[in-house]
Amino acid sequence: MKKIILVLLFVCSILDAKINGVVSILPQQTFLEAIGGDKVDVTLMIKPGNSPHTYEPKPSQMKDISKADVYFSIGVEFEKVWLEKFKNQNQNMKVIDISKGIKKIDMVEHGHNHSNHDEDHENKDPHIWTSPKNVRIIAKNIYNSLIKLDIANENYYKTNLDKFLQHIDATDKKIKTILNQKNRKFMVFHPSWGYFAKDYNLIQVAIEVEGKNPKPKELKHLVEEAKEEKVNVIFTSPEFSDALALQLANELKIPVIKISPLNKNWSQNLETFAKAIANKKD
Ligand code: ZN
Repeated sequence: MKKIILVLLFVCSILDAKINGVVSILPQQTFLEAIGGDKVDVTLMIKPGNSPHTYEPKPSQMKDISKADVYFSIGVEFEKVWLEKFKNQNQNMKVIDISKGIKKIDMVEHGHNHSNHDEDHENKDPHIWTSPKNVRIIAKNIYNSLIKLDIANENYYKTNLDKFLQHIDATDKKIKTILNQKNRKFMVFHPSWGYFAKDYNLIQVAIEVEGKNPKPKELKHLVEEAKEEKVNVIFTSPEFSDALALQLANELKIPVIKISPLNKNWSQNLETFAKAIANKKD
C-alpha cells in the first residue's frame, strides 16, 4: 500500500512539474506570476517590510534555493552579496538577469544628477521597476526565459505576456492623465522613484544622501529647496525609518505619505503614487 502511494505521488509530481522560480523582490513576483501563471511556482526572497539593500536570507530560504530551477535576478543590492552564494548552493539553478536591456540611470541626490560618476557602476539606480517602460522590457525578458525552460507551453506564456503588456500600457496612460499638474518636484526619503520620475518628467528630491542621513547643512538646504519649489508631500517607505522625514514635514507643514515601491500590486501602487504627487484623492 505504501509503495502504491509513493508511486502515485511520484506520477503526480511529474504531471504537475512546475518551474520553480526564485525572485528577489515582490514586484518581480507579480511580473513572474503574470507571465508564468499556473506553470510557475514563485519563491520570494526579500519578504515585505525588508530592504533589498540589506536583506539576509534565512536558512529555510537557502533550502528553497537548493530546490529551485531558476533565479530571476533584477540587480538589487541584495543580489550583489548573495547571488554567488546561491549559485554555489545549487549549481543546477539557472540565473536569468531580467534587467537585461534596461538603461540604468545614476542615483540622484538633492535632485541633481552626479554626472561625474559616469564610470562608477556601483552608483547606478537599482530601482528599475518603478518605470512602466522598464517593466515592458522585464516582462519580455521573463517570457523569453520561460519559453526556453518550457517550450511546450509557449502559447500559454505568449497569451499572458500580451495581456500583461496591455496592462502596462493602460497603467502608463492612467498615470499620464493623473500627472497633468504644473508642479514637477516631489520629495522622498529614500530615492527609489528615479525611473518613475524620468518617465513622467518629474524631479525626485531625496532626503537621504548616498544611503545616509543628511548633515545639518544639507538638511537646511533641503528645507529651503522644498519651500521654494512648493513641495506638498514627503514620501517615506516602510523599509526605512521615517523620523527625519517627519521632522522635515513638521517644519514645512506638509504631510508624510508612506508608500513602498515594493508593493505587490505594482500598477495600482504606481497610480496611488502619481495621485499623491498630483495631490488628487482616490
Ligand atoms: Zn532602495
